[in-house]
Amino acid sequence: MRKRNGLLGALSKLRTYPLDDNVYLIIGKNSGTFPFSNSLLIMDEEVVLIDSGLGDELLQVIKDEVDIVLNSHYHIDHILGNYLFKELWVVDAEEGVTSSFESYKRYAGILGTGIEQDWLEWFHEHFKFRASSPTRIFKPNEVFKFGETEWIAVHTPGHSPGHCCFYEPKRKLMFSSDLDLTSFGPWYGNPNANLYDFIESIKKLSDFQMDVIATSHMIPLKKNINQALEDYLNIIFERDERILKILENEMTIEELVKYDIIYKEEQKRYKAFAWFEQNMLKKHLDRLMELDKVERTEAGYRAL
Ligand SMILES: [Zn+2]
Repeated sequence: MRKRNGLLGALSKLRTYPLDDNVYLIIGKNSGTFPFSNSLLIMDEEVVLIDSGLGDELLQVIKDEVDIVLNSHYHIDHILGNYLFKELWVVDAEEGVTSSFESYKRYAGILGTGIEQDWLEWFHEHFKFRASSPTRIFKPNEVFKFGETEWIAVHTPGHSPGHCCFYEPKRKLMFSSDLDLTSFGPWYGNPNANLYDFIESIKKLSDFQMDVIATSHMIPLKKNINQALEDYLNIIFERDERILKILENEMTIEELVKYDIIYKEEQKRYKAFAWFEQNMLKKHLDRLMELDKVERTEAGYRAL
């Protein structure tokens, strides 16, 4: 593995956590919290950056040293800086999603829902969409050899259909992207997100041997990793419990949104957030009906 002096100099200007001699988590703007995200930098024969949501000023510091950008998934806070790089690898399920704003909105389920204007208002407050097209499409669970390191693109759908985590088996490093282990918990607010898949993906991660796990919105974790994954998974089940308690009184999903199970009331000043919440609650309700814990009524839903 060769070190690149220029890159090391550049990294010294950024907030980073070394996960290994040549693998760094770079913390995004605003500590990598939304609307930004952290990136993984792999400094091997090829220099690879996973995700490009650090913020443009931070990306400018390293952009000339990076050979390839990989996207863990299509969400805007992970792909916003793609346009700065020549080589872009994207998972097959999400091929072309970021190639135009129309395709982005279509894939995110915004078009034809009546929410588009409200969603745009929120979106443009944080982001300026720039199209980016992949130069290579990879397959879920494909293995990449960038020199000395080998990375498995672990398919972990649920948050988005193509979402991948990246695992280096010899070094037991995991970059789990938006299986982000934050106290907010799992997010599945787009129509194409899948709650069942999300649960299975969190369980799947626990099967890997990990000395360190780095995520898109937190600092890396070296201890109690399985406990952190379990706590993260349990947030889904705690949401279930809250829904069941509230649904002791029959109500509609619109009424259920007002109980702030996912977002606080002030966050829902954007109607888009109420829509995200409603999408998430719908996935819980569908699953709870499947488990015979909730029934559909004429007016809405009721716990059984
Ligand atoms: Zn995401």
